[in-house]
Amino acid sequence: MVYISFCYLYFLLCNHVIKCESVIAKISEQDRLLHAALHTSGHLLNWELSQFGWKAIKGHHFPGESRVEFSPMDSNVLPSEQLPLQKVESSIKMKLHEGRKVTTWFEENDRLCLIEGCTPIPCAGTHVDDLNKIDEFSIKSIKFKKGILRISYDASHIAMV
Ligand SMILES: [Zn+2]
Repeated sequence: MVYISFCYLYFLLCNHVIKCESVIAKISEQDRLLHAALHTSGHLLNWELSQFGWKAIKGHHFPGESRVEFSPMDSNVLPSEQLPLQKVESSIKMKLHEGRKVTTWFEENDRLCLIEGCTPIPCAGTHVDDLNKIDEFSIKSIKFKKGILRISYDASHIAMV
């Protein structure tokens, strides 16, 4: 566990701003790293699917229920039943094995995230700093319903010594 003390932290609760003298937050390093691995893997899935005409519209990166939902970019989208999921999974695994830097920065009020070799996208989430920190990736299931493609996946962070 990592203990962090924030002085004069402001909470926005129920449209009321409350000023606190001190707050102690506990963060599980192991959980945080797993969430970063799952979240960053969602970016990779988005990158791969964009090459087949799918655009991520929603992500959920909780352990055991991680998924990204996609909608078609245009009429040239590759139908979901024709997506080469084995190839997508292999391509992601190859990027993890090779390792690529993940960087974030601000442009005015937007925080951008870039996985080396991909396209930067706006994101406020937590990422691994290099893809080689992600140990495993697998596509668990795919579902297409009412124009929305949902791909569920799993990933893990390398063991930290
Ligand atoms: Zn992100």
